[in-house]
This record gives sequence, C-alpha cells and structure tokens, in this order.
Amino acid sequence: MSLLSADALVKEFGGLRAVDGLSVSVEAGELVGVIGPNGAGKSTLFNCISGVVTPDEGVVTYDGTEVTGDPPEALARRGLVRTFQATRELETMTVRDNVRLAAPDQPGEQTVPALVRTESMQTVEQSVRTRADELLETFELDHLADEYSANLSGGQRKLLELARALMLDPSVLMLDEPFAGVNPTLTDEIAEHIRELNENGMTVVIIEHELETLTELVDRLVVLQQGRVLVDGQPEDVLSDDRVIEAYLGG
Ligand code: ADP
Ligand code: MG
Repeated sequence: MSLLSADALVKEFGGLRAVDGLSVSVEAGELVGVIGPNGAGKSTLFNCISGVVTPDEGVVTYDGTEVTGDPPEALARRGLVRTFQATRELETMTVRDNVRLAAPDQPGEQTVPALVRTESMQTVEQSVRTRADELLETFELDHLADEYSANLSGGQRKLLELARALMLDPSVLMLDEPFAGVNPTLTDEIAEHIRELNENGMTVVIIEHELETLTELVDRLVVLQQGRVLVDGQPEDVLSDDRVIEAYLGG
C-alpha cells in the first residue's frame, strides 16, 4: 500500500472544479514533483491532502488510514507536513522564535508560569531550542536569528518556512513552490537540502512552477492540468511527452 494516496478527489469553488476527479499516490521514500500551469489545481490538491480544505468528493489515505478532511495539526502530528506557497511566518517575531514556535505541543514559556513547569516540560523546551538552533544553522539563518522575519528576503523566508516545517519532524514533507522568488544560488542550496532529507528517508512532494531545478531533483513528475493528472512518470519521459509540451506551450 502507498504511504499517501488521493483517490478521485474533487474540490469545487463556486462551480469551478479546481480539482476534478484526481487520483495520485506516493510511495515511502519517493521524491516526487508536481507541475502544471497556473491554476491547474496543484495548491488545491495539497490543501485537500493536508486538511486545509475538505474535498467535496474522494478519499485521502495516509499511512494506512483514511484521513480525508482531518485537520492539518492532526496530520502534522502524524508526520504529514506541508509548507505554503505564501509563507506563513509571523513578521513581528524573530526568526528564532518563528522556528521554535513551529514545534508541536510545546509547553510555551508564556502560557505556563515558571514555578509550575515540570522537569519534563523543561526537557522538551530544551530539545526544541536545540533543534531550532540546528535548523537555523543548517539553513544559514543563524546570523539572522534575532532579526524580525519581516526583514528577510523572499528566499530567506522560503528557508525559514522549510525550517519551520522540519521542526515538526515530518515523514512526508509537501512543499508548495519552495523555489519561487528565490535567487539561483539559494535555489541550488534549498534543492540540495531537499535531496539530503530525501536521502535520509523523508518522503518529499514538491509543487513547482519552474521546471528546471525540479526536473533534476525528483525521481518522478506528476503533471496536472485543469484539476486532473495529465501525465505521471519519469521526468525525461514526462518532459518529452507531447501532451505536456502542449499544456505548457500550447496554453
Ligand atoms: P495552482 O496551484 O496549480 O496554480 P490552485 O490550486 O491554486 O492552482 O487553483 C486552481 C483553481 O482554483 C484556480 O482557478 C483558482 O483560482 C481556484 N481557487 C483556488 N483556491 C480557491 C479559493 N479558495 N476560492 C476560489 N477559487 C479558488
Ligand atoms: Mg499554487
């Protein structure tokens, strides 16, 4: 059985079928790219799978159980984590706090007075801090740790978004346009991090509008068009497929 699958998903917005009977599945350990023209339904597919929206029809299965419509937090706790096309960090908070606060179920220094915080709560807090610092270093954000997130560049925000997602220790990481607005050097760095995470066992699904970086990175490409899967296969085969060429160039 696949680690993650969507079966016959439908999502309509006021008569527009953003996702139109779409089925796709991902095996454990895969690195899959999802491409397709603007408006093809890529983000809506991620939203349906990750519980951000509930599909009108169809079934989502993750790790052996049906999870259709389960809330994002519940799925994240089970290891299914996604990032957003428009990053969601809190601009009035520092980079470090943004990463720390992405951790699930953390006791929170603000909400629990120091005197009643148990030893185990303090241990969790310490490990959250350590993990956050490690991620800041990995993504070369450590020198910006005390900056407000509002001061970051678009590319740095993408790195922050990735660091925040990794605080949740995902089994499956779904990235919505991780390279959008990112300069070429940083794009290569993010791609390298993604490759490494996948090599260390993480299943990764990446939506991307730009094809070049993605094609080199992934094992498999799924092409969406008008809410459906147009082609699904090895990158070389997919990119030379007439239907894909038509979808991208023919409009
Ligand atoms: P992609 O990510 O492939 O560019 P989307 O999934 O964002 O495509 O959008 C697919 C279609 O659904 C588009 O026509 C978009 O305008 C529409 N759509 C997406 N989300 C909403 C929403 N919340 N309300 C209304 N229409 C939406
Ligand atoms: Mg999108």
